[in-house]
Amino acid sequence: MDAARRCGLVLDSRTLRRKEVEASCPFCGDHGPGKYHLSLNTDTDQYRCNLCGAHGNSVTLFARIHQVSNKEAYLELARGGKVYPLPRQPAPQTQERQPLPLEARHQMYSDMLEHLTLLPRHRDNLLERGLSNRCIERNQYRSMPETDRGRRLLASLLRAGGHDLLGLPGFRTYYGAWTVSGPNGFLIPVRDRHGLIQGLKIRLDQEADPERKYRWLSTRGMTNGTRSYSWVHVTGDTSSKRAFLTEGPLKGDVASFLAEDALFVCIGGVNALGGLKETLVSLGVKEVVEAMDMDQMVNPQVRNAICAMRREVQSIAGIRYSKYTWDPAYKGVDDYLLSRVSAL
Ligand SMILES: [Zn+2]
Repeated sequence: MDAARRCGLVLDSRTLRRKEVEASCPFCGDHGPGKYHLSLNTDTDQYRCNLCGAHGNSVTLFARIHQVSNKEAYLELARGGKVYPLPRQPAPQTQERQPLPLEARHQMYSDMLEHLTLLPRHRDNLLERGLSNRCIERNQYRSMPETDRGRRLLASLLRAGGHDLLGLPGFRTYYGAWTVSGPNGFLIPVRDRHGLIQGLKIRLDQEADPERKYRWLSTRGMTNGTRSYSWVHVTGDTSSKRAFLTEGPLKGDVASFLAEDALFVCIGGVNALGGLKETLVSLGVKEVVEAMDMDQMVNPQVRNAICAMRREVQSIAGIRYSKYTWDPAYKGVDDYLLSRVSAL
């Protein structure tokens, strides 16, 4: 109760003497004011929202509300400071739910990948692109669970492992049960420069249109679902002063592997430039080499988008910008590099 008060939770005064105290849920806002979906069990030190499924103990509650680590929350609660903010009625969630912070996403997605395997047909697909088995292991590609049962089981395992799936793109509730949602295919971890998993992209099994072959793992607009962003993927030797710039995380992984761990920075799409400049600046690269697909300059809209991307990168002070050119018989830089390796 002390932790709940220090989190400024609105408590239902009629339940204060009970073992289970009820409160307004600060995470989902109970879909409207004056309701109390959050149960605080004063015996077990556990909380749970019956609407959105948020759950944990007093330390994780305090950590999540104040956006600090569990350790910091523990130390703060143990110190027993007497700062009680005024209880604040949570606003109903009218704004779109935002993804959890990067560290939380990375932890949960890492645990998720531990539970999954890579189907033989997906491994074959990756080997055909030129990746080695060792590289496939290291990059942690996995197959999406294909049955509803497998998908619900994955969500259960993560929840049993202490993860609250509200705010993790790709997860949602369906008739009250948590599950992962998305087309069948294999998952590609999209990492920042420290190797943290920002999000996952799916390479779809069933999709004839090459423009739609890749999709973010996202549950935007679904019950208790969360949107994804088009995160920038970093792969290869991050100490390199030269970065190659391409579109698509898998293309980057393959090209980096075939080019002896060259540094690749991969945007999600030619119109998804958010975070690109920051990524290049934080990497401290001095040279950027554009390696977009050869056929892209044919479409005027795509060409304009690529020109906008160039201007964005060239606006970084002191950066050298050039274009990587190869035999146009090969569409992508990965195809070209594979042809050279195969020829050896
Ligand atoms: Zn809730």
